[in-house]
Amino acid sequence: LSAEAQDVLDEIDAKNVDFLRLQFTDILGTVKNVSITADQAEKAFTEGIYFDGSSIDGFVRIQESDMRLDPDPSTFAVLPWRNSDESAAARLICDVINTSTGEPFEGDPRGILKDAIDRANDLGYEVNVAPEPEFFLFEEDEDGRATTTTNDVGGYFDLAPKDLASDVRRDIIFGLEDMGFDIEASHHEVAEGQHEINFTYDDALSTADNVATFRSVVRAIAAEHDLHATFMPKPIPKINGSGMHTHISLFTEGGENAFHDGDDEFDLSETAKQFLAGVLEHAPAITAITNPTVNSYKRLVPGYEAPVYVAWSDRNRSALIRKPAARVPAASRIEARFPDPSCNPYLAFAALLHAGLEGVEKGLDSPDPVRENIYEFDEQKREEYGIDTLPENLGQALDALEDDDVVLDALGPHTGEKFLEAKRQEHKEYLVDVSQWELDRYLETF
Ligand code: GLN
Ligand code: MG
Ligand code: MG
Ligand code: MG
Repeated sequence: LSAEAQDVLDEIDAKNVDFLRLQFTDILGTVKNVSITADQAEKAFTEGIYFDGSSIDGFVRIQESDMRLDPDPSTFAVLPWRNSDESAAARLICDVINTSTGEPFEGDPRGILKDAIDRANDLGYEVNVAPEPEFFLFEEDEDGRATTTTNDVGGYFDLAPKDLASDVRRDIIFGLEDMGFDIEASHHEVAEGQHEINFTYDDALSTADNVATFRSVVRAIAAEHDLHATFMPKPIPKINGSGMHTHISLFTEGGENAFHDGDDEFDLSETAKQFLAGVLEHAPAITAITNPTVNSYKRLVPGYEAPVYVAWSDRNRSALIRKPAARVPAASRIEARFPDPSCNPYLAFAALLHAGLEGVEKGLDSPDPVRENIYEFDEQKREEYGIDTLPENLGQALDALEDDDVVLDALGPHTGEKFLEAKRQEHKEYLVDVSQWELDRYLETF
């Protein structure tokens, strides 16, 4: 038993933990749980816990379904909403192992991100990532189902009394802090009922774990207030949707920020620009993974602070990638503004990383930044500047993914195939559906 695992066992004792939730995610990013009693914890660390992977989305075929969960002791956390002095529940995030080979299972998103991080490590870099997940808080109806009625009328950075949700947000923040999050800021977002809570950057794997945890904590604590928290990208048309801006930088093993160059006009190193060029080049395919739902593409339209065009900027927020102002060299980074919080964070970061590292390995040149509001460009001006458009819908994004070996390879053959299959099916179902908009528009007209 490792010293770290022993510490977890001691904590389980000290905190009266009865149940442990062993967590992992399917390819769609949904958190799955296998619950064990606390007295199984030692066995979980030494032998792993076996489960049937055939019932998990995108995992395996029935014939080869035996999987093992290996808990990562560094992810131990007591669940704040299942915690009293006598009894508590805790979670551990796990790696999924294929029992027939003993190797990491190729369909485990956490393993896929680890492979991307390995690629960075091989080049001599550590990866830092910080996300800005946005979400809406909606009221529930009498049956406890989510509505799209917001429970406040606040706007960007508004304070109480308009921001009635600040109580809920405070409880959410306490809950996150109990689970080890270091919260930097929280504020009411632009839209009614929309919020953002920022937590400190961390290595890419911890940040992906954190995003998965964040979504469960926010939903669980909102539910205690009879509210439904949603990370759906565009729940209400014609107002801002919810993004998950993703800040990325590479550090050398010596702890230097490889993205910083004080002599550069934008404080960005050659490495940062190559990375950025890689992400721009592969953006249409990455979108299938960072913006993986039909609804994601209703956020990526002009006018709501979400990107539509493939360009970068040190100024405006209509660009796909922004270079935020950095107070200190360690903070030089790029902000990918296209991801949304419905993505699988492991796969999203893996795709961004592989594309960026491809740019670094190939020494790609970055285009010039665009400093004007790209929403206002017409097609001719965009052509002049060589600015491409992001996919307009999930189908186009999947086409781009199918044609992009760099991004497809980021997922690996198993997950690439399963992802495309699941998402094509989702898009197809959407295409044959008849929406409320169509009924409103045509039912009485024809
Ligand atoms: N909600 C916007 C988006 O969809 C971002 C707004 C902001 O953070 N300034 O990306
Ligand atoms: Mg923000
Ligand atoms: Mg925001
Ligand atoms: Mg931002």
